[in-house]
Amino acid sequence: MKKIGLLGGMTTESSVEYYRLINEISRNRMGGIHSVESVMASVDFGNIYPLMEQERWDLILEKLISASLDIQRGGADFLVICTNTMHKLADQIAEKIDIPILNIIDVTAEAIKKKGLARIALLGTRFTMIQDFFRNRLAEKHQLAVMIPEPEEIGYIHRVIVDELSIGRISEDSKTRYWQIIDNLKKKDAEGIILGCTEIPLLIKQVDGDIPLFDTTTLHAEAAVDFALA
Ligand code: GLU
Repeated sequence: MKKIGLLGGMTTESSVEYYRLINEISRNRMGGIHSVESVMASVDFGNIYPLMEQERWDLILEKLISASLDIQRGGADFLVICTNTMHKLADQIAEKIDIPILNIIDVTAEAIKKKGLARIALLGTRFTMIQDFFRNRLAEKHQLAVMIPEPEEIGYIHRVIVDELSIGRISEDSKTRYWQIIDNLKKKDAEGIILGCTEIPLLIKQVDGDIPLFDTTTLHAEAAVDFALA
C-alpha cells in the first residue's frame, strides 16, 4: 500500500471531508477495520487567503512547497493537494518535490469523459473560474468545452465559499441561489457541473438535481485510494 500525503487546511472544512472519505472508501474496499495510511500537513489558511486576494502566488508557493516537503519527509508516496484553487501552483510544486502529485483537474476530467460528456460548466472560487489554469487543462489536455457563470454569479459563488462554506456555515438561501445558477448553466446547454471547489459539495448534493454533478472532493479522494491500493 502507498501512503497518501494530504496537503490540507485550504480549508479545514474540506480537509475533514478528505480524511473521512479516504478512510471510509478504503475501509469499504479492504473490509474490517482496515484503512489507508496517510500523512497530512495542514496550513493556516488565515495567512494564505489575503495573499490570494493580493495575487501574491509567489509567497503562497513558498508556503505550499514547505508543507509539501514536510509531507514527503513524513513518508508519503504521493501528494494530494486538497483544494482546486491551489492547483494553479501544482506544476511548480511538482518541480520541488520528489513524489508525484495526483492532480484534481485530471481526476475530474477522467470522470467527465467516462460519463461521455463534452460540454461542462465550472463552479469554484473566482480564481478557479476566471483564471486559465483549470479551464485550459480541461480544454487542452482533455478536449472538454468549459463554460463559466455570468460575472455577477461568479462574485456570488466566490463570496459564499469564502464567507460561509470555509467556516462551516451552510445556508438554505445560498443553496437556493447556487441551484438557480446551475439551472442557468443548464439552459445554456451545460451537460454537467464541476463542483470545482472542495467546499461546494458541503452545500450542493446530487440528490437535489438531475444534471450530473462532479464532486471534486469525492472524486479526488476516490482516486487517491485507487492509487494507494493499486
Ligand atoms: N477549497 C477551495 C478550492 O477547492 C478553496 C477555498 C477558498 O479559497 O476559500 O478551491
